[in-house]
Amino acid sequence: MPLATPYYLVDETALDRNLAKVDRLRALSGAKCVMALKAFATWSTFAQIAPHMDGSTSSSLNEVRLGREKFGGETHAYSVAWSDGEIDEAISYADKIIFNSLNQLDRFGDKAKHLPIGIRVNPGVSHSHFDIADPARPFSRLGEWDLARVEQAMDRVSGFMIHCNCENDSFESFAALLDAFEARLGSFFERIDWISFGGGIHFTGENYALDALAARLRAFAEKFSLQVYLEPGDAIVTNTTTLEVSVLDIVENEKAVAIVDSAVEAHMLDLLVYRESASLAPDSGPHHYVIAGKSCLAGDVFGEFDFPAPLAVGDRISLLNAGGYTMVKKNWFNGVAMPAIAIRRKNGAIDLVKSFDYADYVASLS
Ligand SMILES: *Cc1c(COP(=O)(O)O)cnc(C)c1O
Repeated sequence: MPLATPYYLVDETALDRNLAKVDRLRALSGAKCVMALKAFATWSTFAQIAPHMDGSTSSSLNEVRLGREKFGGETHAYSVAWSDGEIDEAISYADKIIFNSLNQLDRFGDKAKHLPIGIRVNPGVSHSHFDIADPARPFSRLGEWDLARVEQAMDRVSGFMIHCNCENDSFESFAALLDAFEARLGSFFERIDWISFGGGIHFTGENYALDALAARLRAFAEKFSLQVYLEPGDAIVTNTTTLEVSVLDIVENEKAVAIVDSAVEAHMLDLLVYRESASLAPDSGPHHYVIAGKSCLAGDVFGEFDFPAPLAVGDRISLLNAGGYTMVKKNWFNGVAMPAIAIRRKNGAIDLVKSFDYADYVASLS
């Protein structure tokens, strides 16, 4: 019996393909890779992922705790702003803590004295196609940009975090950013022991110049004699996961619209945030459909696709690349049934690892 839809399906073999690239990058560059749990926190897969990485990084107390409890390795704690009520607990899980501002370092640095402490620096340059995801956008709160303030932190920090890439699939573009960092911040780099270049580098992509990236990172590390870190999130799970859905109805309104048992806003929210289309394969053939969700949002549309044969109620559709920033953002909007989570093992067997029901919906509110 096939699993009932909807469900996210993580493919171990596809994950291995990405992890082999992580292995290669770490070996060639000497850089350490910590997984950004913000992008993907489906912890059933951590046993497979963690041996290929140096640990995890976080953007909240919950994530740093999950990293400590479920991922292992080095646990990095970062948050845009820690509260008085959470800082002690966050430090208790952390091997390293990165403050977003000099204010936060002033406020909490003493508590973390026994740990390596870093500060996030905003270099004022970035690679992002989306203003909403651009850390260097005007008025950005993400990291210290004023070098006089960075200087004030120097007696208390051993490292920097500079995260300013979003879905950057070009080595040349990343290398140019690194050149810009060196020009502006080089004298600081000589005084720190480690630097993290954050996430957003799509080095697991098929055509990415992985070896060139490794060489550039190694040269950087040697020039300033420091340990480089990367914080990949999405890159680890790119093209590893699908959202499996079924057609519930087909309506006609100038176009044929197939309604499926999922909802964009609830299960693949980023498609709405970034105004992108889902993808599916082969997306060819004479039969064209709008694939739409079952929420009451008029714009609940996954995309328009071509099919080799007409769709019918009950047909299954596999929406591709549904790993990063999907499960970590899913919500109960419209009370739509929450997709289960399943893993396709390397031997082809599919294991259901989590399912959700009415009790979970009720428990999410009061
Ligand atoms: C979002 C984020 C990451 C992960 O980014 P990806 O695009 O998923 O690789 C890493 N570090 C920081 C500080 C982030 O904000």
